[in-house]
Amino acid sequence: MSNKSETSVVYYASARATKWDYKYSLIAKLEELIKRLDFSQHIEPDDYVAVKTHFGSEGAHRIVRPIFLRKIVEGVKEVGGKPFVTDSTRIMGWDYLEVANQHGINPMSVGAPVILADGIFGYDNVLVKAGPILGEINVCSAIHDAPAMMVVSHCKGHIEAGYGGAIKNISMGGVSGRHRSGDWKQARGHLHVPSEMDMVRDLELCNFCMQCYHVCPTGAVLFDGTDISFDEDKCWRCGRCARVCPEEAITRGRELTEFQQGLAEAAQAVLGTFAPGKVLYFNFLLEVQPECDCMPVADTPLVQDQGILVSTDIVAIEQASYDLINQAAPLPGSLAADKGLRQGNRILADAVGVDAQEQIDAAAELGLGSKVYELVEVEGKD
Ligand code: SF4
Ligand code: SF4
Repeated sequence: MSNKSETSVVYYASARATKWDYKYSLIAKLEELIKRLDFSQHIEPDDYVAVKTHFGSEGAHRIVRPIFLRKIVEGVKEVGGKPFVTDSTRIMGWDYLEVANQHGINPMSVGAPVILADGIFGYDNVLVKAGPILGEINVCSAIHDAPAMMVVSHCKGHIEAGYGGAIKNISMGGVSGRHRSGDWKQARGHLHVPSEMDMVRDLELCNFCMQCYHVCPTGAVLFDGTDISFDEDKCWRCGRCARVCPEEAITRGRELTEFQQGLAEAAQAVLGTFAPGKVLYFNFLLEVQPECDCMPVADTPLVQDQGILVSTDIVAIEQASYDLINQAAPLPGSLAADKGLRQGNRILADAVGVDAQEQIDAAAELGLGSKVYELVEVEGKD
């Protein structure tokens, strides 16, 4: 982990392929990036290694492709590690594994077991101390107990976080979906409600489009055939309904600062379960869509594919990824183009309407790494 003012190296492979040779493919470039990270420095023989990714959701197909997961799995095996590909439950586990399978993520394709980090019912977790915002969080058991982790993140937008990369992958994604003896507020939902702030609703504006009903992850939006209502006990203030409501009948009743800082705190708590040097980061800046991979749809990408970044420093890789996306040119036919954004605007922040710099700043302040980075380009496989 770098001191917050040191320069950290972030290796980068562009998505462009301009020469007709396998060694210049993005897959071969990933093999080279893996070589640069030198897994043998981070993994002991027989170490179980969590390859943490996001399985996507029914309707959201823009995830890290299985071929890339397979290359990372092969790299871990080459140094004697025992990899398993994992994510925490978003929906009940049996169905979530089927979503993974539909997206091509299964033991055959990735070359390793594919398991749920918090078990088939989302109850397998370990309570871990976090910072002053969250107090404590339930880290998924398979992540908590693994000696090493590869954090494989599809970088994209997010309703409340503004940007979802490595920090979000291990904070919200490293925390269990449920809690056996408590309710959802002691599990992942806890990240959304540290201050118990309410959503603001004016249902006189409602046109009954039912989008809130379809995106709600907890079943908190109720419809009796005539009226919409909300189950306050089930609502974990995730903001999805506010994001999709076309009439502003639902809005957020809070600033997002605490949420962004809470994500960094949760990431710190999850990383605290690993010895120094045992976690490596892979950010995929491909199909950078405006929403999270847990939404029921995936919009067209905001910017052209940038490539793959890898680092040992979570803050440096997040800063580099966020900068690359924000500085890219908006693609025609995207939300960024719809909003009239041009290169020179902050494409992701302005398209989503939430600036995620706060999340990265908070991670740096917590000592998770350095925002100062050097991008070292890898042009092909040696
Ligand atoms: S904020 Fe909206 S989408 Fe999220 S849980 Fe509550 S009602 Fe459902
Ligand atoms: S998204 Fe808004 S307009 Fe549509 S049903 Fe929900 S509250 Fe009503």
